[in-house]
Amino acid sequence: MLRDEDRIFTNLYGFEDFGLEAARARGDWDNTKDLILKGRDWIINETKESGLRGRGGAGFSTGLKWSFMPKQTGARPHYLVINADEGEPGTCKDRDLMRHDPHKLIEGCLIASFAIGANACYIYIRGEFYNEGSNLQRAIDEAYAAGLIGKNACGSGWDFDLYLHRGAGAYICGEETALIESLEGKKGQPRNKPPFPAQAGLYSCPTTVNNVESIAVVPTILRRGAAWFAGLGRPKNTGTKVFSISGHVNNPCNVEEEMGIPLKELIEKHAGGVRGGWDNLLAIIPGGSSVPLLPRSICDTVLMDFDSLRDQRSGLGTAAVIVMDKSTDVVKAIARLSKFYMHESCGQCTPCREGTGWMWRVMERMVQGKARIDEIDMLFDVTKEIEGHTICALGDAAAWPVQGLIRHFRPEMERRILQYTGTQRVAAE
Ligand code: SF4
Repeated sequence: MLRDEDRIFTNLYGFEDFGLEAARARGDWDNTKDLILKGRDWIINETKESGLRGRGGAGFSTGLKWSFMPKQTGARPHYLVINADEGEPGTCKDRDLMRHDPHKLIEGCLIASFAIGANACYIYIRGEFYNEGSNLQRAIDEAYAAGLIGKNACGSGWDFDLYLHRGAGAYICGEETALIESLEGKKGQPRNKPPFPAQAGLYSCPTTVNNVESIAVVPTILRRGAAWFAGLGRPKNTGTKVFSISGHVNNPCNVEEEMGIPLKELIEKHAGGVRGGWDNLLAIIPGGSSVPLLPRSICDTVLMDFDSLRDQRSGLGTAAVIVMDKSTDVVKAIARLSKFYMHESCGQCTPCREGTGWMWRVMERMVQGKARIDEIDMLFDVTKEIEGHTICALGDAAAWPVQGLIRHFRPEMERRILQYTGTQRVAAE
């Protein structure tokens, strides 16, 4: 369990004011100029050595991502874009970071922008986060007024501007290239890659897109040292992580914990346990709705990090833990997710546009048992036709929950079909 002194987000629960004075008292903006003066290479190397992996879901090395940006600045502007369009069902960690600790993000934006040679950063915030956007804007205004950002930010000699941009409610704008399109004022649709944003991103200029949490932890990592962060968690899965725990638990919450904490311990220590006790657990989606669910037998022992969950054919994703007790109609729950992805598909590529609708319609029949047993295999085949065959990861995200259901709850799907066909036969006789 994470020690209090290793906690980065000490105001995650809003114990103190989110304003500048309170943030400074918590250690934010302490010697930021000195960190910047250590230079770009030092910042990037230190971030790489900390082992920090992106907290938005993909888990790619943050320092390595920064190193893809062209070394030369001047020919074209460089940009940092913060993905604060937190729309993944079950996920609300970035919302609370921006609500209670916005200065950590702003300081991280300055340092990361300097590291990639960007004089401007855009924070693309989910439109529904109205109050969080207001808090963030207030903190940005405070930082400008105090000379922490703007011309000669923190006295470092680096000019840095920070803009808040509100989204308009499309899940797909959480995909980095759709987000860039939306930021440019266009319809939010993913771009084909390559070119990758580091080559041609915002306004066709070199751009890095990072998640809120990934950037907000950077100042603390640099102050306390890469070795400190790398010493937390497990090899290749280092540091702390903010988990969102929801569903059938006694105390739904966001909590910062060490990477690799056992799932059972996470729920019992921080969320008050499963409603009705651990024996009442049916299944858990461990990383936001886009990753396959896990049955109770795996939940007993699995660790909460990228590699452990991948080994179980699931994923850490956004670390949003959705708990389902035995009262849950698990087929219906996954059918509801299928409807969500169908609704949020941008429609550009055929496997996703057509496949998500097809999956949802079959899933609706599966809920009622109005299907044939062999259609379970057909449904699985459809998920495989979508997975890996689309422009962006929404296609995979739609396919994986259905795959997880079939993998772990096939007997329940068959039971419904047999029960329904039995009912029909009796009615006919
Ligand atoms: Fe759009 Fe879906 Fe294709 Fe992504 S996978 S580009 S959401 S149609």
